[in-house]
Amino acid sequence: MKLFSFAVILIVLFMVFSSPISVPKKSSNIKPDTTMQKRKQIAQKDSEYVCVKIERSDEEWQKILSPDQYAILRGKGTEMPFTGKYYNNKEAGIYVCAGCGNELFSSDTKFESGTGWPSFFAPVSKENIATERDTSHGMIRTEVLCAVCGAHLGHVFEDGPPPSRLRFCINSGALVFKKKAAQ
Ligand SMILES: [Zn+2]
Repeated sequence: MKLFSFAVILIVLFMVFSSPISVPKKSSNIKPDTTMQKRKQIAQKDSEYVCVKIERSDEEWQKILSPDQYAILRGKGTEMPFTGKYYNNKEAGIYVCAGCGNELFSSDTKFESGTGWPSFFAPVSKENIATERDTSHGMIRTEVLCAVCGAHLGHVFEDGPPPSRLRFCINSGALVFKKKAAQ
């Protein structure tokens, strides 16, 4: 009898878990974009950088960013080596996008490349960055962009240290450093 009830439970469980789950379709006209709202809230709390939307006009970016930040993030510029504020920074913390506050690189992956630009062997998460083929200036390079606001951050090269062998060569001006809170 016990065996029978056990079998019944098993069958019921199987039916429950194998039944197709109906996924509600996204109705963008009704549902507010909560992710965006969250980002806005975070941005409003933090005055160090002005975060916000994925899409902004050039005029808006110009108002938000400093001229140096604008030239790098929106104009794909490159700062002079050994001039940025983070190439020699050895403090523990997180580097976020100067345009939107998206977490990009951790000090745990920062290394001394000798190039004069902050260098990392991996991003905080692959989803937080985007890459694109860049053929400007007569070179074939891989551009690194912020996955949230599309800002230009720098380039990634395949001559980094293990374990990734990658070198994310990033402009200091594209980053804002968030020092790790003392524990
Ligand atoms: Zn960004």
